[in-house]
Amino acid sequence: MNYLAESTWENYDSAHQADLRIAKLLAFLPSDVETILDAGCGNGIITNKLIAKYQVTGLDISPAALKYLQCPVVQASVTEIPFPAKSFDAVICNEVLEHLDNAALQKAVQELKRVAAKYIIISVPHQEQLEKLYYRCANCGFTEHVYGHLQSFSEDTLVSYLAPEFYLKNRDVFGPLNRDFKPLLLKIRQRWLKQWSNPGSGAKCSRCQQEKFEIKKTILSKGINSLNVLLERKRPYWFMGLFIKKAAEL
Ligand SMILES: [Zn+2]
Repeated sequence: MNYLAESTWENYDSAHQADLRIAKLLAFLPSDVETILDAGCGNGIITNKLIAKYQVTGLDISPAALKYLQCPVVQASVTEIPFPAKSFDAVICNEVLEHLDNAALQKAVQELKRVAAKYIIISVPHQEQLEKLYYRCANCGFTEHVYGHLQSFSEDTLVSYLAPEFYLKNRDVFGPLNRDFKPLLLKIRQRWLKQWSNPGSGAKCSRCQQEKFEIKKTILSKGINSLNVLLERKRPYWFMGLFIKKAAEL
């Protein structure tokens, strides 16, 4: 995913999947919140919906994304947030942390905790099976997640990242239903039958910039997919958690 490209943000969330997350977020926001930082706001599909009720600031690294914001914005990384400590009642961070490598993730979490006076709301894909959405370049063999996700979170891992200053007050697992792949079936489909995830039209390999991917469907790979449908149940895609600063930290 190229965050700086105009095209990334033009039709971002064209399926309107953000509506569910906005409703959930509004229900999660405590009643004493007035100021919000949307850390990694993207094109503001969530941020712009908060303007009517809150003083919101959007922060993102991409100028192309920030063009769509209808509130004050700051171009910066979530790993280095240019605000003093406790600047906002609540800091929200939606679908951002899963894109960060380990070092950036550590920094980002520290920054969210630093600028939040009382609350942090985080949403991420819930226990995502990252390998399922790997593409494989037919030219150089490079493999990578189609949306650039590098992290998979459970409730426990998020709680440990936010500790000790913040604790989990409210949480939900919700959203579109999604089916994992049985690891052995996935291995067979990807390694032997050469059907990996399709990164979409116009996508290029991050390493060699070619546009050829191992995505062919065969009778056998279709059979594997059907078998997986029988063996694996669907489950909701997102986790959202409301974290509260402990009284001793206020
Ligand atoms: Zn390649």
